Amino acid sequence: MKYGTRILHNENELDPHTGALSIPIYQASTYHQYDVDNPGKYAYSRSGNPTREALEKTLASLENGTHAYAFSSGMAATSSSLAILEQGDHVIATADIYGGSYRILNSFFSKFGITTTFVDMSRLENIEKAIKPNSRLLFLESPSNPLLKVTDLLGATEIARKHGLITMIDNTFMSPYFQRPLDLGLDIVIHSATKFLGGHSDVIGGAVITKSDKLASQIYFVQNGFGAILGPQDCWLLLRGIKTLKARMELQQESATEIAHWLKKQSWVSDVYFPGLPDHPGHEIIKTQASGFGAVLSFKTETVERAKQIMKKVKVWSVAVSLGGVESILSYPVKMSHASIPPLERERLGITDNLIRLSVGLEEASDLIEDLDPEH
Ligand SMILES: *Cc1c(COP(=O)(O)O)cnc(C)c1O
Repeated sequence: MKYGTRILHNENELDPHTGALSIPIYQASTYHQYDVDNPGKYAYSRSGNPTREALEKTLASLENGTHAYAFSSGMAATSSSLAILEQGDHVIATADIYGGSYRILNSFFSKFGITTTFVDMSRLENIEKAIKPNSRLLFLESPSNPLLKVTDLLGATEIARKHGLITMIDNTFMSPYFQRPLDLGLDIVIHSATKFLGGHSDVIGGAVITKSDKLASQIYFVQNGFGAILGPQDCWLLLRGIKTLKARMELQQESATEIAHWLKKQSWVSDVYFPGLPDHPGHEIIKTQASGFGAVLSFKTETVERAKQIMKKVKVWSVAVSLGGVESILSYPVKMSHASIPPLERERLGITDNLIRLSVGLEEASDLIEDLDPEH
């Protein structure tokens, strides 16, 4: 069965009890045990819930994994995965990682003696150089946020394997529709399901997927122990959102590509970052490891005033954090997603005051372009 069909038909789409084409929202915290000596499949919804199970199995199928866990947010998924680390472990993370991931590593896990080195992973030698005797985990994000830098995932995995590191990737920007890192040999995939998986800006959620039984049992232990589970209503919203993943990703990518090409031609734009552009430094690599380029792009304006003017004038674009919804969103990383990164570090990463990030939705591309045009 082709992937596009499997999004809708992965053996988790029908309610096993009624045949309903929409998995019911099992709004239950606990379950009657008919025989205490032989407990039923479900005992308590922190440990397991049928709606969550349908979502988790769907997520495992879409990432070509064997185990998936749904969390109350992308950050809960990331933090719960990082919680499998031991005191004294060292993490190597990509430099322009999601701001929340940067914050949790630098200001929370550091309290437990877990240290992190952030490197630009668009150059593999930077990973090799950062490895220490206590390195345990390589945390990738490709394309990265907000500058869409691409990491050679096969190359990075090879280095990690040589040094016995676990590989974990934040696959939010690509969604499993365009990129399936487990197929490339990575160990753990995480998602902010809030973004493309949900797709409608109406739910906060996260996911962790793996093919390793050992990592799966460690992650399940944290999911059940910490308890940052996704509630059944939100699981249902994600199941519903995922059904249109293919259609959304294809159309949103098409418009993002059109907008990227238009921005390239504007005199008031100094740089455009979109891996779908042939002159993007990661263009050739991403073509070998993903089947698309996504629907997020960034650009820099000639002046900071111009960036501010655009944010004031837009009417079709929402000026907001987040991405991946059917509505187009324009965001300002310096004040939004990356505000938690110290200004000097931000500057070093190229996250400057004239940088705007776009998440392209389902509106007509011509309306989105007109709305961005300062002359209009
Ligand atoms: C939004 C986002 C997160 C965090 O997810 P939440 O659902 O907001 O907790 C993590 N990584 C990336 C790439 C994101 O865009």
